[in-house]
Amino acid sequence: MSEVRVRFAPSPTGFLHIGGARTALFNWLYARHHQGKFFLRIEDTDQDRSSDEAIEAILDGMRWLGLDWDIWEGGSEETVRQTERFNLYKEKVRQLLDEGKAYRCYCTAEELARRRTEAMKAKRVPRYDGRCRNREAQADNQPYAIRFKAHTEGQIVINDMVKGEVIFESSTVDDLIIARSDGTPTYNFCVVVDDVAMGMTHVIRGDDHLNNTPRQIRLYEAFGYAVPKFGHLPMILGSDKARLSKRHGATAVQQYRQEGYLPEAMLNYLVRLGWSYKDQELFSLTELVEKFSVDSIGTSPSIFNPEKLLWVNAHHIKTGDPKRLTAPLLPLLSQLGINTKSIDSERLERIICALQERSRTMIELAESAACFFLDEIPYDDKTQKFLKAENVPILKAVRDCLLDTPFEHDALLEAFKAICEAQDLKLAKVAQPIRAAVTGKVVSPGIFDVLELLGRETSLKRIEGQIQKLRG
Ligand code: GLU
Repeated sequence: MSEVRVRFAPSPTGFLHIGGARTALFNWLYARHHQGKFFLRIEDTDQDRSSDEAIEAILDGMRWLGLDWDIWEGGSEETVRQTERFNLYKEKVRQLLDEGKAYRCYCTAEELARRRTEAMKAKRVPRYDGRCRNREAQADNQPYAIRFKAHTEGQIVINDMVKGEVIFESSTVDDLIIARSDGTPTYNFCVVVDDVAMGMTHVIRGDDHLNNTPRQIRLYEAFGYAVPKFGHLPMILGSDKARLSKRHGATAVQQYRQEGYLPEAMLNYLVRLGWSYKDQELFSLTELVEKFSVDSIGTSPSIFNPEKLLWVNAHHIKTGDPKRLTAPLLPLLSQLGINTKSIDSERLERIICALQERSRTMIELAESAACFFLDEIPYDDKTQKFLKAENVPILKAVRDCLLDTPFEHDALLEAFKAICEAQDLKLAKVAQPIRAAVTGKVVSPGIFDVLELLGRETSLKRIEGQIQKLRG
């Protein structure tokens, strides 16, 4: 196979959405699997709906996910922006006009709307009737759009990489407007011009574009261009089988970032929205690059399941290299009021190691890690059950023995055992009040690991603080 060249071509009208991110991921994986190229093209010709903030949000989402893109050889910028390519589109529109493959259409918006309503009333599929095809050029000042003269005979057959053979009757493909009356080119036209200019070998996109594909194929044919291979991905739906929307929860990728999801978990979850490999659920990115193939993309829509995403996230946190988890954790710790500049990285990694097992999101990890760095910790209401006057003797006994016990797991365990024996108590009876006193929570990793990580001074200060408070 010659070099694979694919692209992600978002319209910048909002954030990077779950569906868009999945399209980007599938293209990225396809390119990386085949050692090909993956480009990013910003389809901003609809200037009323596009914005620079949306472009930034999309780039930011892509970077966060780690879906790096190649710089197109034909451009000097990091991304290809359609609004910077109007000259090329104009030239191509002119070419079709000169070759008699396009024509000026003088029908006004009102006329078209009226004809559409009439067709609907008469239960006909509304389509442009081609009446301007043979119309003489009108006076100069009369506005016109430019339409492509589509073939009306035969069929258009798409050998879709995902859906298999899809056949369209040419008669259903009407004469597409390729340039509006203000001269701006339209989506279907720019896509074809750009996909050819950028040398795309495969076009993988959502199946909401399937109806555009026969129109685009006719344009490829009119220009005499080779048609790329198409792959249309089934939609992502919410649990009620309606198309995924805000009603189903967060749909913007960045929202998940804020909620403490890891990009590797997002990618792992997204890939399973349509693609499968045996019954494997959890993948690293390297594994995905190796295993990805378009043949294993299913043909039915996928249901977005936030609980499963959370489960996948928990897995990636649990198995993540503590060094790798440091970067997303630090800003969350700073949000909790911790001065992260003074944090010792080796200690932080040991804390992550102790906490990653039980954290489903990076927010949960940060919240459990906070007690290791804050001077004053907040106390969860649940700790009241253990921090009560009758437990003061336990707190005191532990305080006394911690004064000269080495602060490492085994020595602490022995010291606690001795207290339990002396007072005839179960280990949990001693551990729980201590856990509550030193972490402000009732759940934490093993108490000896916690004490070791907190160190003698902080542990004693917090236990002493509770003794003083409970004494009144
Ligand atoms: N700009 C289109 C969109 O955001 C994608 C076009 C394509 O992939 O061909 O839906």
